[in-house]
Amino acid sequence: MRAAVVASGGQYEIAEVADPSPGPGELLVRVTACGFCGSDLKARAAMPVGTIMGHEFGGEVVGLGPDTEGWLAGTQVAVLPALSCGQCEWCASGHVIHCAKVRLVGLGGTGGGFAELAVVTAAAAFPLTPRIDPVHSALVEPFAVGLHTARTGRIEAGDDVLVVGAGTVGLTTIAWARARGARRITAVDPAASRRSAAESFGATDVLTTVEETQASGYDVVAECAGKAGLLDAFVTAVRPRGRIVLAGVTIDATSFQSWAALMKEVSIGFAVYYTPEEFRTVIAAFTSGLIDPAPLLAKRVELGQVNEAFDDLAQVAASGKILVQP
Ligand SMILES: [Zn+2]
Ligand SMILES: [Zn+2]
Repeated sequence: MRAAVVASGGQYEIAEVADPSPGPGELLVRVTACGFCGSDLKARAAMPVGTIMGHEFGGEVVGLGPDTEGWLAGTQVAVLPALSCGQCEWCASGHVIHCAKVRLVGLGGTGGGFAELAVVTAAAAFPLTPRIDPVHSALVEPFAVGLHTARTGRIEAGDDVLVVGAGTVGLTTIAWARARGARRITAVDPAASRRSAAESFGATDVLTTVEETQASGYDVVAECAGKAGLLDAFVTAVRPRGRIVLAGVTIDATSFQSWAALMKEVSIGFAVYYTPEEFRTVIAAFTSGLIDPAPLLAKRVELGQVNEAFDDLAQVAASGKILVQP
């Protein structure tokens, strides 16, 4: 099969590699579409040469491993890109990312979606409904991130929500805040294109910087920018007994004045990945129309354009998903 593999210097090269073959309990998926993610940009330099990245994808089941039961070739699926053991207490609770044996798809654990074919466990494949465009299978993952962020921050009907950063995580968090009945959703982003995207996803107010936020004005603050050093500003912005949820990825150290958070009894949480149940909830929301994934799709490219697509993604003002269709 053709695949975009990590070459030296963090670039990708298109290579002919052996087709992966499904083992017991696994499925062979022909990739329909795979999204580019901000975390791919950060992670690619650390990936070994030869890695097939891409963790936001879906496709058509084209083969079953031995003992894989209950699946039909031709089924369109979205892939949850964390293959877990299925036996431990974390798997039983749905928090598969914390399984000690988890293999991350497209991030070094097993081959991802920047290829014509991928092998995943049957437990990590979620059938689409006929109402969902197969290309939108690649958008289930980003909307599951937004749902997990909204749930971790306990965004409920009537809440005033501040979403910091209107990239993909911010936009999908806004969409779920709206779907959950938030009263006011304020999005913060320095880029005008992202602020207008935030409004189309349901933000009622937009701001350019965190300094413009209202002190003690928000029930929930969701950090979706991956920027360190803003916790003091979030503690100022959140109401007493409010929630701060950090979903952006950064490796920069941060410090903050914990006394202010103590006096407000603020809850600070972190959200990463999602659960199988959240994948099913996103698919149900795409099917019912509660969430329309289409506006998240910015551009489609071919496998040979992976490097250019990454250069596009590195543009600060980029908004929306670029999908590769291998
Ligand atoms: Zn991602
Ligand atoms: Zn497990």
